[in-house]
Amino acid sequence: MALIVQKYGGTSVGSVERIEQVAEKVITARNQGHKVVVVVSAMSGETNRLLDLAKSINEHPNSRELDVLLSTGEQVTIALLSIALIHRGCPARSYTGHQVHILTDSAHNKARILDIDKARVEKDLENGTVVVVAGFQGHDEHGNITTLGRGGSDTTAVAMAAALKADECQIYTDVDGVYTTDPRVVPEARRLSRITFEEMLEMASLGSKVLQIRSVEFAGKYNVPLRVLSSFEEGPGTLITYEEENMEQALISGIAFNRDEAKLTILGVPDEPGIAYRILGPVGKANIEVDMIIQNVGADATTDFTFTVHRNDYKKALDILNSVARELGAREVNGDNKIVKISLVGVGMRSHAGIASTMFEALAKEGINIRMISTSEIKISVVVDEKYLELGVRALHSAFGLEEGSNQ
Ligand code: ASP
Ligand code: MG
Repeated sequence: MALIVQKYGGTSVGSVERIEQVAEKVITARNQGHKVVVVVSAMSGETNRLLDLAKSINEHPNSRELDVLLSTGEQVTIALLSIALIHRGCPARSYTGHQVHILTDSAHNKARILDIDKARVEKDLENGTVVVVAGFQGHDEHGNITTLGRGGSDTTAVAMAAALKADECQIYTDVDGVYTTDPRVVPEARRLSRITFEEMLEMASLGSKVLQIRSVEFAGKYNVPLRVLSSFEEGPGTLITYEEENMEQALISGIAFNRDEAKLTILGVPDEPGIAYRILGPVGKANIEVDMIIQNVGADATTDFTFTVHRNDYKKALDILNSVARELGAREVNGDNKIVKISLVGVGMRSHAGIASTMFEALAKEGINIRMISTSEIKISVVVDEKYLELGVRALHSAFGLEEGSNQ
């Protein structure tokens, strides 16, 4: 007998019929002798609908009240699922975040979980009751309702699993696992049977939307085995876990890409201490996140500086850079918001040389110009023109043989 936490996302509970299908799946797991905790999201579209209502009054609604509003979406789903379970003869009880004491900090709309009181849940599980918990919500030390940020139900599920020392946390969603890359770009993309926490974290921060980043961090920290599976099809999904010592590690696990990139360059700034700070300080102060940064080797006492930001921040960053350029007497400022970032991710990189050159060769063969490069221990990213995104991802997918199924 195992203790399993199952999480069902918005599409999986998008209608009463689907909620009834979820009830059947939960009952199947319980009939196999497992103790089951279910975490659910709001029905698909509901959180957006609520957000739009608030924004129709004020573009920046009061954050405490917004949490009161948004948390109602999940409350509907827990009740409907419990009604469906009980109707089928399966004992079930629903709980809001507050009722199971999911204690968070007070950062409304993006709160972090601090503690969970598992006593109530454990008592129900002992009695054979299925516990249905509202995702995405908690309360702070003053009893205010908080929410965990978009996609936060994943984090609720992982946190419940960590607190209860569950054998597995299963995230049921509308895809049947984590893929080598987006199958809409590369039809040959393959489902991975497993991936490490570290790799999944990179994939999530590089734009893969399968899981909320925080949930992966949490799972890694507390070593919660996490499995992504489809609500609609049978299958083993993808297991996210620690790197196993003797396991033959795939060189590259996946290719992530991000279309929302823009780059800015300031040319001919003095090559002296404090320049990076004078350029990037004002950008940071404006709350603009900077991703890649490159500074050229200085020639004749001046240097050039390039960095990337989210495309939404491009105009704002360009204005800031133009005024910095005037202050510093820079030669020129230019920018490009038609660029994308493509990244190779794999823990196998640590122990293998030559991955970067294989990557660059594959892109060169397609005549794709690389505009920026950055590397870390388990990732290599390049910035290329937007028009090369599909071609670049496909070329790399085949250069590294990702369609071949070694990881199945
Ligand atoms: N309902 C919330 C959202 O749409 C939380 C979640 O689905 O995980 O972001
Ligand atoms: Mg979600």
